Amino acid sequence: MHKYAMNSAPDFMPVERLRAIQNEKFIKVFRRTYENVEWYRNLLAKHKVDPNDIRSIADISKLPFIVKTDLRDTYPDGMRAAPMEKIVRFHASSGTTGKPIVVPYAQEDLDVWSECVARCLTMFGLDETDVLQVGYGYGLFTGGLGLHDGGQRRGCAIIPAGGGNTTRHLMLIKDLKATAIACTPSYFLHIIDQAQKTGYDWKETKLRVGIFGAEPWTDGMRQFIEQETGIVAHDIYGLTEISGPGVGGDCSHHAGIHIFEDHFYPEIIDPDTLQPLPDGETGELVFTTLDKVGMPVIRYRTRDITRLIPERCACGRTIRRIGRISHRSDDMMIVRGVNVFPSQIESVLTSIDPGLINYQIYLDSNESGLATIEVKLEGTPEMYAAFAEDASRREGLARLVTSKLRDTIGIGFKTTIVDQNAIPRSEGKMKRIVDNRKKD
Ligand code: ADP
Ligand code: ZN
Repeated sequence: MHKYAMNSAPDFMPVERLRAIQNEKFIKVFRRTYENVEWYRNLLAKHKVDPNDIRSIADISKLPFIVKTDLRDTYPDGMRAAPMEKIVRFHASSGTTGKPIVVPYAQEDLDVWSECVARCLTMFGLDETDVLQVGYGYGLFTGGLGLHDGGQRRGCAIIPAGGGNTTRHLMLIKDLKATAIACTPSYFLHIIDQAQKTGYDWKETKLRVGIFGAEPWTDGMRQFIEQETGIVAHDIYGLTEISGPGVGGDCSHHAGIHIFEDHFYPEIIDPDTLQPLPDGETGELVFTTLDKVGMPVIRYRTRDITRLIPERCACGRTIRRIGRISHRSDDMMIVRGVNVFPSQIESVLTSIDPGLINYQIYLDSNESGLATIEVKLEGTPEMYAAFAEDASRREGLARLVTSKLRDTIGIGFKTTIVDQNAIPRSEGKMKRIVDNRKKD
């Protein structure tokens, strides 16, 4: 066996043992954070929590949460729990507003991170014989280096292509015989478009696995990608604050995302009452990093909305799964007093026609200041071929979507089926909601 061959045994360990490991690690990380981070000591004091009352992981619910703004407020390194001599790298979240969230990593953190990415790759069926093309951006963003280090740890041959330069991506896939590609799903749609335009034949490549994450994507997109290119599309989930991509991934059953619970302890809470919810119920995902040295977080609110799936997966892994992440709590739009989530729009689209694979939501206000919402839709090439034969189908479909959205969500939408490739493609994460409303 290759010396970096990844053992997936931790994914299958008996649940009692997993819980014991979590308990043991939790106490240590809690102590370490309390002792080394003044900000955390103050947080506990503010919430009147006596650290001596935290004796096992069952006591976790006594602890306050850490939120995104806490990490921004302590910029650049107020949450660091290890001396600078231990820090070997920084990453930062893309952060659309203001200062980014900066995360310092110790060598131990990079080791755990690459181990988890390697465990994901094992789950996706990759081994030492694979050639992995990394199409995530390299830099402060965790996508590029995360897949790079993890892929190397798994023993794959890495093509560090990075984001952008689609023509070169297509060339490298063919010439270097890439068997797997990792990038954002929206960027892969762009690669597919480019391939179509240039008469690229996927059958002439060795590509068989796609590793997509960093942004929500739909089952419609998965089907389209798989049909169009003949690869199997896997979901990889993660966030910078916890480590980066590879906090979890979906196995060959594609029935949710397995979380590497021996390193990242998940909880689901009700985002309003902040009470923990039992497995199976939908709420906000909260993580405690069980091994982090550089910047541990205890009960960090991700704002990602999902549930912990109570049933054991058919693959036999004992680590739990979360449902696919369809939206973040801060994606909620309030339009004329109604709460609207992108995931609601998405399920209407897939129920009408799974060929509707991409969409973008535009919020604006009319002359009288009333909020308006428009959904721009894009379909598969087959759909456009059908429109070319019979233009009325395009309008008919738009009308159907409009009425179903109104029935399901309770407000009027404008629906436009835009031309093929009219929704802007990004090399990184795509912007699902464009808010042009006047702010007062
Ligand atoms: P930022 O918060 O600035 O976007 P990150 O790059 O750390 O910075 O992004 C992490 C977030 O990206 C997650 O909290 C989640 O909302 C989203 N995300 C990551 N992977 C996935 C995935 N596979 N499916 C859906 N959303 C994802
Ligand atoms: Zn599984």
